[in-house]
Amino acid sequence: MGSNSRPHAVFVPYPAQGHVTPLLQLAKVLHARGFFITYVNSEYNHRRLLWSRGADSLEALDDFRFEAIPDGLPPSDNDDVTQSIPALCESLPRNAAAPFRDLLARLNAAPGRPPVTCVVQDNFMSFAQRVANEMGILSLVFCTMSACGFMCYLHFKELMDRGYVPLKDESYLTNGYLDTVLDWVPGMPGIRLRDIPSFIRTTDPNEFMVHFDGGEAQNARHAQGVIFNTFDALEQAVVDELRRIFPRVYTVGPLLTFARAQARPDAAAAIGGNLWKEDASCLRWLDTQRPGSVVYVNFGSITVMTPAQLAEFAWGLATCGRPFLWVIRPDLVTGEKAVLPEEFFAETKERGLFLSWCPQEEVLSHPSTGLFLTHSGWNSTLESVCAGVPMICWPFFAEQTTNCRYACTKWDIGLEIDNNVTREEVARLIEEAMDGEKGKDMNTKAAMWKEKAVAATEEGGSSSVNIERLVGFMLEGTV
Ligand code: UDP
Repeated sequence: MGSNSRPHAVFVPYPAQGHVTPLLQLAKVLHARGFFITYVNSEYNHRRLLWSRGADSLEALDDFRFEAIPDGLPPSDNDDVTQSIPALCESLPRNAAAPFRDLLARLNAAPGRPPVTCVVQDNFMSFAQRVANEMGILSLVFCTMSACGFMCYLHFKELMDRGYVPLKDESYLTNGYLDTVLDWVPGMPGIRLRDIPSFIRTTDPNEFMVHFDGGEAQNARHAQGVIFNTFDALEQAVVDELRRIFPRVYTVGPLLTFARAQARPDAAAAIGGNLWKEDASCLRWLDTQRPGSVVYVNFGSITVMTPAQLAEFAWGLATCGRPFLWVIRPDLVTGEKAVLPEEFFAETKERGLFLSWCPQEEVLSHPSTGLFLTHSGWNSTLESVCAGVPMICWPFFAEQTTNCRYACTKWDIGLEIDNNVTREEVARLIEEAMDGEKGKDMNTKAAMWKEKAVAATEEGGSSSVNIERLVGFMLEGTV
């Protein structure tokens, strides 16, 4: 294919780790199918990738290019943290649309690059969709969240119209009101208010994140298709309902499986999206542990906790007496650096390993890993499903509450830990998950879901078929 006749897809992730990774996975799959790729990070994350991966990684391939646009936030004095999510959500639509428009114009005029045929934007980056639509370019929304999480956001407005949100006063957070069952959210029977993305836990009728997330979900109606990183069997009822709402729904997950199997070797070797430097030494440590014996603890890239919560997790891990691998980001604890008492390290030094960032997919699929203590971010959840590892879920914010509900009650591969975490509960749940009857059941179910995930990505599997449909539609390139 001559370089100018190649299809050219421009990817626009929301600037946070859990968004950069899955869009990059799809970009690699399309690249392997002959697409020219332009991947557009925020300038802030572009700098972080330069630091964590090196300039060679971003310049490695002629047909997989990286570009950057400003996010509009003031410069930060620390480039090694996840930026404020609400601040980004306010700033991006106002500040990134014009540079993105200029970028598309520049790409279309650039010698050696085929004209842009399609924009794939994160569902929190609808400004990119507006620009693409204005310019007559095909645009597809990529939902990096679960389908069940997205369905909730899609109904934020209805939750307000029906008077559930805002809450009448603060007492509604604790008086049992959140246990109210909503019997009208399509495909989600039995869902309770407490399972809806956490932003609705507000008494403010103007709460920005409720309006922003609800609005962004509705904006997906103006795209020509909606892509989900999930597979049909996992969220069948919700996906069926989404297909009634959106004419083109592409469930193509787990994308990590496709990216692993299909990325061109040069792209697989050179291109990665980790914003922190990975410490892979833990894989050698895992090699020294017994199969299924290690508790892996990681709360993703955004979660923050209080020093008191950190201490409860620590003493729970100390009490459980099992080997553990704990990833503590430098900015995990609010207000200060994560500090744990000397006695804790003395007590666990034979069996605890601490890192600030690890290659999570590999840790989860290592045979020694037996349990994942997670914040229930969607990528972490999917990676755990793919590895067949059960979870203890401590949802922090956004649709993590919804993912937790599904993991614990629909897929039966998770145990929920109360937000007011105590060391006793941490130790008890680890025991139950690793040695109890419930643990046996969760392991069986986790193995079953892993098989279903594999089946979805094999030839003829639902996600495989949907990737073909998606590629076919993108190649037509018509708005
Ligand atoms: N991750 C990783 N190493 C770490 C922590 C996280 O590679 O030490 C990756 C993880 O595999 C996942 C992503 O970061 O792909 C986190 O996304 P998720 O949706 O789980 O949570 P978020 O960070 O958005 O809250």
